[in-house]
Amino acid sequence: MHRGSPAKEAHLQAGGELRGILDELPGLVWSARQDGSLELLSRRWGEYTGKADAELLGWAWAETDLFHPDDHARVLETWAAFRASGKEGRMEARLRRADGVYRWFQIQAGPVLDDHGGVVAWWGLNTDIDDQKQAQAQAAGEQRLLEMITRGEPTSAILAGVVYLVERGSSGLRASILLLDEDGLTLRHAAVVSLPRSYTVAIDGTPIGPSAFSCGTAVWRRELVVIADIENDPLGALFRANALAHGLRACWSLPMLSSDGRVLGAFGIYATEPRTPTKSDLDLLERCSRVTSIAIERSQSEEALRRSEAYRAEAERLSRTGTFGFDLLRRDFTMSDGICEIVGFPSKSRPTFAEIASRIHDDDRERVADVVRQALRDGGTFDYEHRLVMEDGSVKLVRVVGRSRVNAAGQHEIVGAATDITASRRAADELQRAQAALTHVSRVTTLGELAASIAHEVNQPLAAIIADANAALNWLATDPPNLERVRESLTAVIGDGERAGMVLLRIRSLLSRSPPRHRACCLNDVVRDVVPLVAPELARQGLVVQRVLSPDLPQVSGDPVQLQQVVLNLMLNAAEASKDMPPARRRVVIRTFVERRASGDFVHVAVEDAGVGLDPAIDKARLFHAFYTTKENGLGMGLSISRSIIERHGGKLWARPNEGFGATFAFAIGALP
Ligand code: ADP
Repeated sequence: MHRGSPAKEAHLQAGGELRGILDELPGLVWSARQDGSLELLSRRWGEYTGKADAELLGWAWAETDLFHPDDHARVLETWAAFRASGKEGRMEARLRRADGVYRWFQIQAGPVLDDHGGVVAWWGLNTDIDDQKQAQAQAAGEQRLLEMITRGEPTSAILAGVVYLVERGSSGLRASILLLDEDGLTLRHAAVVSLPRSYTVAIDGTPIGPSAFSCGTAVWRRELVVIADIENDPLGALFRANALAHGLRACWSLPMLSSDGRVLGAFGIYATEPRTPTKSDLDLLERCSRVTSIAIERSQSEEALRRSEAYRAEAERLSRTGTFGFDLLRRDFTMSDGICEIVGFPSKSRPTFAEIASRIHDDDRERVADVVRQALRDGGTFDYEHRLVMEDGSVKLVRVVGRSRVNAAGQHEIVGAATDITASRRAADELQRAQAALTHVSRVTTLGELAASIAHEVNQPLAAIIADANAALNWLATDPPNLERVRESLTAVIGDGERAGMVLLRIRSLLSRSPPRHRACCLNDVVRDVVPLVAPELARQGLVVQRVLSPDLPQVSGDPVQLQQVVLNLMLNAAEASKDMPPARRRVVIRTFVERRASGDFVHVAVEDAGVGLDPAIDKARLFHAFYTTKENGLGMGLSISRSIIERHGGKLWARPNEGFGATFAFAIGALP
């Protein structure tokens, strides 16, 4: 007895009811004799192959053109192996359909055995697995593309891969990917595989629009556009001749959108026959356009990253800055190229922390180590300057600011930036020198304006000396000479001479160009030294100078010559502001006093006039700007220089309108304890 199996039953009852069922089975059912020649075929064989049963029956497998040429040898080998083993088996191979298309089948075959286990015949079932195979290949292809994206392979290779996948997955269709140019108005091919260049070149750079063939219109409308027949559809007009010349009859385009809804470009698909896309065409397109969007977005964001990285590098170069990070636990030191440049290593050379530290100036090393130790111990920010010694022995000054903190992973890390301040420090030094020179020039100019006043100041004691000397002569000429009076006169001559000497000393020190030297000084003395220089000139203009000096003024740390210059400036300005006033308002009061504050004592000097006053329309800060002047021959430098002098003394200089007439210009400097 034969053992029960569908093939065996069918074999036995061919032509019966079972045969009808076999014919309905969704596959190609067959049986073969012991020698392998076909004995029975279900109805679907004829339908699939387009051959009559007679052509196939008795078919020896070796002589058929039904199998794909690439599979034929393997099929024969496997089939021979099944028969030799006498056991059931499976294989996969492509079988040719009536229209010439090969489809993948799973071929399953098994022996029909007699009572003694001998093979008397074979049953077989070929199942069409082509769709499944395609889907698998497609999924594997998409997977490969995603892997390419993750590996960061060039976008052009990924896009070509997508086009290839689409063309392979849809027999006979041709695909292209077009990207929107940066202007957002024109399209350009980014990937083609089988479309000829002579076709694509004519399309590149054409503007998108409401009737710009399939791709230009799809991007414009942000939706799928189908031109089922390029020959007739009005949408096909733009590239009709070109498309037809290349044998393209139908096309459809799907716009590709970024995750935030921007149109990136479009997928274009061409067919050589007039047709519309099937559901599976559209599914494939949809999936591929998703992969493409990912690839393009990724490349755009990488490009943006590259650009911002380039900007950062350029900004670092311009500002001579570099950034660094130090993960203490992992001993991992990272830095930007800027650090390499500052420390004098070739960029991208990645020197070690020890190599960088070796450039720190010997005298600064311990101090830097202290700052780092403290930052690590206490956390928080640090900001210090130190020197670096370059390979050629030159010295650079760097400023390092940073922060020590515990990161999200609970590890200590330091992040910071270093700036090469050698050039800016040199410039600042030069600026300071230039400012000192300017201050000096302004002083000399002011003194020049006071020449008459100074001459008067020196003249007075000289006149007194002459008068006293004459008097002495007269007392000598009396008989007997009144020696007591002569002594008095000569003593007066000495006093006058000393007075003249003092005046000249003050002028010499004002004219000297020695660098500012700070020492403890009394602002009352500063005022006392200046007033005699200006008062005669002011008196000549009908101006009264009044001094109200606090008797117990604490000392300040400062350079008396520079402070005299400030007082001189303020007094001359006050005089200038008062010169056209009626006599009652031609008065300058100069006061000194102490202000006691919790933070310490401040010594004030205020110069008060009843002159033109401050223009309320002018921001008071402007008065102190360099070159701001309302005077015909003014330079506009006096207040600006005065303010910078006072600020260098750690003080403040300001202006305020008086309640009655005129203005008060005052400064305050912290008193010495
Ligand atoms: P300059 O005296 O060469 O103009 P300054 O810097 O000393 O330069 O003064 C700038 C301007 O500030 C003056 O032109 C004037 O308009 C105003 N100013 C200075 N002092 C007084 C004052 N005591 N009263 C009114 N305006 C003043």
